[in-house]
Amino acid sequence: MKGVEVTAQRVSRSYGDFKALDNVSVQIKKGEFFSLLGPSGCGKTTLLRIIAGFDFPDSGSVAFDNKDILPLPPEKRQANTVFQTYALFPHLTVYENIAFPLRLRRTDKATVEQKVMEYVKLVQLEGHINKKPSMLSGGQKQRVAIARALINEPSVLLLDEPLSALDAKLRQNLLVELDLIHDKVGITFIYVTHDQSEALSVSDRIAVMNQGKILQIGTPYEIYEAPATRFVASFIGETNIFPCTVLSCEAHGEEFLLRLDVPQLQDEVFVTDFEAQEVGASLDFTVRPEKIRISHTPPRSNNATMNTFKGIVEEPIYSGFQSKFFIKLEKEPSTLVKVFKQHTVFLEEGPEIQWKDTVYVSWSANDGYLVKDT
Ligand code: ATP
Repeated sequence: MKGVEVTAQRVSRSYGDFKALDNVSVQIKKGEFFSLLGPSGCGKTTLLRIIAGFDFPDSGSVAFDNKDILPLPPEKRQANTVFQTYALFPHLTVYENIAFPLRLRRTDKATVEQKVMEYVKLVQLEGHINKKPSMLSGGQKQRVAIARALINEPSVLLLDEPLSALDAKLRQNLLVELDLIHDKVGITFIYVTHDQSEALSVSDRIAVMNQGKILQIGTPYEIYEAPATRFVASFIGETNIFPCTVLSCEAHGEEFLLRLDVPQLQDEVFVTDFEAQEVGASLDFTVRPEKIRISHTPPRSNNATMNTFKGIVEEPIYSGFQSKFFIKLEKEPSTLVKVFKQHTVFLEEGPEIQWKDTVYVSWSANDGYLVKDT
């Protein structure tokens, strides 16, 4: 099998007055595991359906390897879809469900048998081939659907929330398998999900969508570590986010050191950025809870007062490998700063932090980000 590059350019789609897709452009590389990630109703399924040929854009283009595919019916596009609801034939066995696309093409019996067994093995359903779908678990049904979608060797596999009907543990297992299947077949996978942890763990790259627009495209690392907008920062993982105004911006080599006024912290915050910002600009400042240090005593670095806030532990939440703390700031008690602290046997850091303790929270200027308010 071989994948194709999938390009959508300036694609828009409205239903009545409602813009489900608003001028969306994306270039998905050949063989990439690419996710469309966003909340319910953001337009990700609409984009997938347009690529599949089940829906049509009002304007814009979609191409596979630079060839316009919009005039082609779904069956001529070399793209197959795996749906959340499996869409198996209930009266057919696992074997016959997987064989179905080959039977449609009148493939000879020996080839059907050899290919079905190859794909049964790929999705690890040996021992289940004579069962009907009603005798299978949700995870097994989805494996049948994946094998059936791959057996006629498409160039693109479209996956529309394929795991969302499964329970959490099974979802995690099948996700790992999906990743391995992708490595084996090597074609382009386009995966639609609203679950950020799913998208982060398997994707080569992710497009984060909201309200019919793509807000950011990047690797999981880029999306998590350098979110471009307020929405991306708060949708992916957990974060602290506060409106701010730029007070000064000084160049330091390739970087800029920015001083910010952050009313919700009742103090100035320093942050480094590769982009200069205009003095007076209104932006949002964000820092991830796991990047914040928490201690009973003030930090002892050279810049001990920079990005350091005193407060009281309002709500400690133990969750196994880490604890979450919400810190009520001394200077601005209506602000709660969220801090995550990993539990490790290797780093013992003084007495345990408990409810009502007075603590210092601090972070490095490199660990905060400025984001746009969208
Ligand atoms: P979900 O995860 O809930 O499926 P989504 O991001 O995949 O969300 P879409 O299915 O692409 O969202 O739908 C985007 C918006 O377009 C939704 O508000 C939906 O109600 C609307 N929409 C989709 N298809 C139609 C249709 N055929 N007629 C009218 N509105 C539609």
